Amino acid sequence: MSAKTVAICAVGDELLVGKHPDLNSPFLARVLMDMGHEVAQVAVVSDDEALIAESIQRLAQNAQLVFVTGGLGPTLDDVTRHGVARALGRELVSSPEALGQIEAWYASSEREMPASNSRQALIPEGATVLFNPSGTAPGFEASLGDARVLALPGPPVELRAMWAQVIEPLLLATAPASGVRKSHALHLQGLSESVFSDQCGDWVGRDENPLLGVTAARGVLSVRCLARGTDEVQVQELLAARVEQLRERFADWIFSEESADPAEVLLRLLEQRAETITLAESCTGGLLSAALTGVPGASAVLSEAHTVYSAEAKQEVLGVPQELLRVHGAVSEQVVGAMARGAAERAGADLALATSGIAGPGGGSPDKPVGLVTFGVYYKGQVWTMKRNWAPRASRAMILTWATSHALVLGIRALTGRL
Ligand code: ATP
Repeated sequence: MSAKTVAICAVGDELLVGKHPDLNSPFLARVLMDMGHEVAQVAVVSDDEALIAESIQRLAQNAQLVFVTGGLGPTLDDVTRHGVARALGRELVSSPEALGQIEAWYASSEREMPASNSRQALIPEGATVLFNPSGTAPGFEASLGDARVLALPGPPVELRAMWAQVIEPLLLATAPASGVRKSHALHLQGLSESVFSDQCGDWVGRDENPLLGVTAARGVLSVRCLARGTDEVQVQELLAARVEQLRERFADWIFSEESADPAEVLLRLLEQRAETITLAESCTGGLLSAALTGVPGASAVLSEAHTVYSAEAKQEVLGVPQELLRVHGAVSEQVVGAMARGAAERAGADLALATSGIAGPGGGSPDKPVGLVTFGVYYKGQVWTMKRNWAPRASRAMILTWATSHALVLGIRALTGRL
């Protein structure tokens, strides 16, 4: 069987006006490509029945799988089901199976189903219901010519849960992609996309096998290495060889091969070692704390964290000597090192991360320009300090985001003996 060509249609006025970025299409594109499908087109369409129908019909001419996301809610402006029905030339009918799933969802939380939710049980005649494990709107699947059209709910958490529990197993059973594709991801911090590309040379060519895909977000570069071929063993070898080359060349920057979120990586490492962390944040003002507490399980490793913005707070809360602040200033390796030690001793934590910097746009000086951030790391009695200079023209938000990722990766390095 040939590889399936896939098209994705993301529905929602809010996606068009940029109120919410479209998270579903990139997610679906990535997981489908990992499965070996060719993703050929993505369309973003407003909540308009005729436009949705027209878009699905057009996409189905060239794709064998058409994913439609969003607009399956209970309100009158959710018209995806009407658009799909119109594209198929069928009526909408109330599905007892879909209704049963919606009622069970409400029953599980001991709530009565609002009448408007019965609208979500409407599916095109002849379509199959797709179970939604984390929301009220079931999806559905129908055939349009040679194409399969799969309509899925819009909220990204629902879509992802449904992908993992329902859609991926369904496709593996009913639409296996041809050929062998294997991929592996590496996550780097501290390197720009352009420097990475320069250092990769030919490896980043579009015709290379393995093919490298690079995405940058929140100061983290994620490199996906995709090997293709017909022979399972050969593809695996091809992939393993390139991954090994990447590991060697980028050893100083790779912080994980599992997660692109340094907070999650750090937290899992601490959990495995039954160790604890505390934070002493000046310029990042709680961003480190938010990143860590955003990961499930944070309470097992973090009991207290401090945002110490003023010189007085640094002295009073963390015991930073006044003399250090006077001689070196708050943004200095000396002070940030004392902050890390002070926080660790106060909390009795194994690891402490401290930040102090000048995020701008004002406040810079020739020897301490905007973009300078100093970092302190305490780990089991030892303290390391370092500084980074980000471009002074970068926005305040970018500098703080990068500093947060960098501090978390320094924590990972301390734990893995790579500082
Ligand atoms: P619900 O039953 O929750 O209403 P739905 O299928 O109708 O599900 P929508 O009404 O389209 O979904 O969107 C619900 C929420 O999900 C909105 O906050 C919307 O912004 C978000 N959402 C929808 N599509 C996307 C997308 N492609 N990327 C990111 N967020 C999306």
